[in-house]
Amino acid sequence: MNLRPKTLSEYIGQEKIKKQLEMFIQSAKKRNSPLDHIIVTGPPGLGKTTLASVIANEMEVDIKITSAPVIEKKGDIAGLLTSLKEGDILFIDEIHRLPPAFEEILYPAMEDFKLDIVIGGGSGKKRHSKAITLTLNRFTLIGATTRIGLLSTPLLSRFGIILNMDYYSVEELSEIVKRSAGILGVDIDDDASVYIAQHSRGTPRIANRLLKRVYDYCVSQGYEKIDVDKVRYAFNILSIKQYGIDDMMLKYLHTLIGRFGGGPVGITTLSLAMNEDRRTIEEVIEPYLMKIGFIKRTKSGRVALEEAYKFLEKGLS
Ligand code: ADP
Repeated sequence: MNLRPKTLSEYIGQEKIKKQLEMFIQSAKKRNSPLDHIIVTGPPGLGKTTLASVIANEMEVDIKITSAPVIEKKGDIAGLLTSLKEGDILFIDEIHRLPPAFEEILYPAMEDFKLDIVIGGGSGKKRHSKAITLTLNRFTLIGATTRIGLLSTPLLSRFGIILNMDYYSVEELSEIVKRSAGILGVDIDDDASVYIAQHSRGTPRIANRLLKRVYDYCVSQGYEKIDVDKVRYAFNILSIKQYGIDDMMLKYLHTLIGRFGGGPVGITTLSLAMNEDRRTIEEVIEPYLMKIGFIKRTKSGRVALEEAYKFLEKGLS
């Protein structure tokens, strides 16, 4: 079942971004030219890929979706670029993970719609490769990144539009839950959708995931309507905690507080102690814990705040 919104008006929340995009899309359409290149930033699951598809739909163009880690060779990017029709969108997720040599192919493509390639080749005496420049159709590159700080300056400077996504409010998430329930074909009352929203860490992907699990529970029990008691019961079975804190976040808090006395402790030490990838800690775990006031990043390291202590105490009692 596809829960992805297709138009800007179906896309819930991120009001500032939508307003800007409406303007840019109208203008590009009137000028009969493609949108300027766009970079979208924000934690995973906030709707970056969805937004790119919505933009393509509103511009009435096709979109090719890829992700930097799956691009293995220069030819992959060249192939993608040459396959784009006039006005099409190329979406590259996790664009900060593109190696510099691949980035360099993008520079002339983004700026002048040119692609420098080497053709021919062969080996030994029969070598006869030559460099040629192809003219590409005008396209829009939409790059998504969880960490804009990791983008190289030359790449970042080639994007005309920067959209910073933030976590969704409980009201917005509750609306997303209701919309998704409608698509799944199940009734849900207001309290239940708010309760799911409160445990979704400001993230639509998590809200939809929780809804689906609660739905599974209700279907298995033969319930036709989701109310807050059923959500509570299902969350209990699923071990969903207050604020939607998951096991990884719990491990982080236990390490920071239990092992390092609440800090300050450096990221390298933390990541070694947790045996967890540093990037996951910085891009997924910490942004949300900072957002809900559990931790802060200081010059001397990560520090646990009062709310985090309270949360652990409650859980341990
Ligand atoms: P990202 O690319 O940022 O990791 P996605 O675009 O994959 O996130 O979004 C995750 C899921 O959340 C999508 O499948 C979509 O159903 C839902 N979603 C995201 N943003 C919204 C929104 N603004 N309104 C409704 N649903 C959304």
